[in-house]
Amino acid sequence: MAKKTIRDIQVKGKKVLIRVDFNVPLKNGVITDENRIVEALPTIKYVLEQGGRAIVFSHLGRVKDEADKAKNSLEVVAKRLSEHLKQHVVFVPVTRGKVLEDAVANLKNGEILMFENTRFEDLDGNKESKNHPELGKYWASLGDVFVNDAFGTAHRDAASNVGIAANISSTVAGFLLEKEINFIGGTLENPKRPFVAILGGAKVSDKIEVIQNLLKIADKVLIGGGMAFTFFKAMGYEVGKSLLEVDKVELAKELLIQANGKIELGDDIYTGKAFDAETKKNVRNIQSIPADEMGLDIGPRTIAIFEKFIQEAKTVVWNGPLGVFEFPRFSEGTKSIALSIAGIKNQATTIIGGGDSAAAVIQFGLSDGFTHISTGGGASLEYLEGKVLPGIQCVDDK
Ligand code: ADP
Ligand code: MG
Repeated sequence: MAKKTIRDIQVKGKKVLIRVDFNVPLKNGVITDENRIVEALPTIKYVLEQGGRAIVFSHLGRVKDEADKAKNSLEVVAKRLSEHLKQHVVFVPVTRGKVLEDAVANLKNGEILMFENTRFEDLDGNKESKNHPELGKYWASLGDVFVNDAFGTAHRDAASNVGIAANISSTVAGFLLEKEINFIGGTLENPKRPFVAILGGAKVSDKIEVIQNLLKIADKVLIGGGMAFTFFKAMGYEVGKSLLEVDKVELAKELLIQANGKIELGDDIYTGKAFDAETKKNVRNIQSIPADEMGLDIGPRTIAIFEKFIQEAKTVVWNGPLGVFEFPRFSEGTKSIALSIAGIKNQATTIIGGGDSAAAVIQFGLSDGFTHISTGGGASLEYLEGKVLPGIQCVDDK
């Protein structure tokens, strides 16, 4: 379903509520990765350039007690945002009340304010996270139109997304949300073929619904990472000390039958004796994993098999690292596959959805090699599962 975007409405002179995802990692009060701020800039700049009055807000971390409030203030983010915009951002250190209302009333066209962490409201009965109707209604009353640009929280029903949308006449997608809808939603709806899905990460149990959904849509599903071992076990192989979910072996058997040859697991792996960056690296056929070793990366033949499928693909969707890429010695599989996908950039739509997979590609310096790297971890996972995300559903249809 096509959704309205910020281009479909007039913002000049309007009080524009903009829900962004500024849930950035902080270490001792310092932002360690500002990607989410950078990604939100196009929407904010557009509103300001068009003469709108921007009222920006986000959640940051979890807020369970007063100490969390001090740790998770958005003030440092407002400062960084103002540096990026080269414009003053009025920071309002509360989430409601006269101070906020006065600041909104004082905004002129082309000016911007940001108020405090929406989850400060969670101290009072989880009003934000549980979407208390009074809160969404209150925030909606502060603005004329609502722009949702927070894909990272689109899988949650919060007061600051669906709560506001339910109480305002116009809700549209910002540029970032639009991009996620077009690339993930659009690709799953209508992929160019062959469509190769690549799934990895730690556990089958985290990804069952993604596997099931992509098995329906993709032409080939390549599986690596920790979850591969539950499949190997289902095929009758011993997996040594590798990650194994015993209670998911039956499910893996069913998925293999259902897949009817669509699932490709390769046939060798890199192993080590310990879950340790320094452990010695061996190559093993999957039929002969020693009892005292664990699989920590896909093997060289498997890399080559996966690469063959990737080279012919017109669409690639990738979720989950193929090995323990955090250990340089076991990052070869994930890195080779990232390079291989980057190599088909000109002929295919290539998408990464998944927090750790995105982090891996960014760490390898290969982000430019992809059509789209999703900004949402949990949200992209649920989107790939084929679920309707409340934060997208609440946006007006075209
Ligand atoms: P994403 O965030 O991209 O969805 P996951 O959270 O599902 O990915 O999984 C990421 C984690 O999976 C990484 O920390 C990685 O170390 C781990 N992993 C990958 N392969 C293995 C393996 N063979 N054994 C143990 N852990 C693995
Ligand atoms: Mg993860």
